[in-house]
Amino acid sequence: MNYRRYSSTQVKYAATYVLITAVVLLFLNLYTSDLTQKLFYQSKQSAMTEKCLLASDEIAKLEVINASTVSSLVEQLESLTVTRMIVTDQNGFVIYDSAAIAQNQYCLLPEIVTAMEGNDVFSWNFHDAVMESRAAAPIIYFGSTVGCVYITDYDATQGAMLSSLQNTILRVTLALEAVVLLFSLAYAATFSRRIHRLMASMRIIQNGDYTHKVDMGGNDELTLLGNEFNDLTERLQTSEQKRRRFVSDASHELKTPLASIKLLTDSILQNEMDSATIREFVCDIGDEAERLNRMTAKLLSLTRVDVDENAECEIIYMEPTVRRAVRRLSTLTDRNCVTIHVNSVQDVPILMQEDDLYQIVYNLLENGIKYNIPNGEITVTLGQQNDNALLTVRDTGVGIPEDALGHIFERFFRVDKARSRQSGGSGLGLAIVRAIVQRNRGEITVDSTVGAGTTFHVTFPIFDTEVDKE
Ligand code: ADP
Repeated sequence: MNYRRYSSTQVKYAATYVLITAVVLLFLNLYTSDLTQKLFYQSKQSAMTEKCLLASDEIAKLEVINASTVSSLVEQLESLTVTRMIVTDQNGFVIYDSAAIAQNQYCLLPEIVTAMEGNDVFSWNFHDAVMESRAAAPIIYFGSTVGCVYITDYDATQGAMLSSLQNTILRVTLALEAVVLLFSLAYAATFSRRIHRLMASMRIIQNGDYTHKVDMGGNDELTLLGNEFNDLTERLQTSEQKRRRFVSDASHELKTPLASIKLLTDSILQNEMDSATIREFVCDIGDEAERLNRMTAKLLSLTRVDVDENAECEIIYMEPTVRRAVRRLSTLTDRNCVTIHVNSVQDVPILMQEDDLYQIVYNLLENGIKYNIPNGEITVTLGQQNDNALLTVRDTGVGIPEDALGHIFERFFRVDKARSRQSGGSGLGLAIVRAIVQRNRGEITVDSTVGAGTTFHVTFPIFDTEVDKE
């Protein structure tokens, strides 16, 4: 697989993170810069308006308003120091100009015109680290406007302060964004390294090495993912081992009858035989073929147990199914001189497929017959144990040695290979029984005494109309 075709998720996440923080920081930067500028503006406005109003009040008190009276007033009042002051009469004719530029001419600046209409005016301009502010106020004498005071201020000190403050805010913003960027890159790199470690492990597993384990490190969701992954490979390993063992066991078991068939056919072809011997050999070949047939049928039924997991269940009673299996096995019981008794003490309803129950009973009874003694007996008892339906199959047969009891449910396990083969056994019957019982939420146990007999106990949950309906 070409992983280069896929763009890196963590880089995308990191880029989005950086972008979002950049937008937030930019917004904060603009907001604080603007707020600082507004604070400076307000302080300048109040200082300039105060000066302008003081000047217009003091000038209004003068007996005569001309250049010399205004000039001496400005010299007396220290608080009136500004960059430039212009005083006009009610027509906008300049009476006094501290810069001595516009004297004796009309000065109709917009601020002066607005002030003449009876308003206090303030305007502000900040550029190149300099604050330029202008204020104007009318001179009112007994209720009528007799002139106007216009002052300008050129403040480089406060301008530099504001400018340096704004630069500092910008530098802090950039430094923060750089930290965010570095952090995101470091995080993306670590994340990327761990994801690549996981992907490398997946490729190793894909190549068949199920023993491989991934170590994600850390203590987060990726660690959990790594643990889940390890659990999964462990399960894969187990099922792969089971599959291999099953295939090798199955092929081993199938090899024996095939080898017999080959041997018998070779004997017929290579030796001169009379027709009676040939017939005997062909009968043997037929028996071996029949054994192969039975074995493949059982193998198929074993694989079907897993496939049929979700098949529809029904509410059934066990007795009719048991009796059907007994009828079906009558030829075998007659041949082996074994008697089957069915003892229905208490037949309770259970929820399962009738076919499943039939397979269980059939296999247990078949074993009871096969591994029994001449004139032996089998007793099937149906009853109830706590909340379970209980099926017991007891025989008076050869019994199972204690050390073999733990293995009889394993695939292809046989206590006495020769006897099992002779009676057509494959070693799969009890494995199928256990798989079906477990699939139906049941349990199977066995106890046995060599020479006395064997008893299988199978339990299934009783179908409780009240509880199971919900
Ligand atoms: P098989 O096809 O060989 O009967 P099973 O899986 O049905 O395979 O049984 C496994 C082995 O357990 C048998 O080979 C047999 O040795 C032993 N066994 C099963 N049932 C009985 C029984 N009722 N009495 C004695 N031995 C039994």
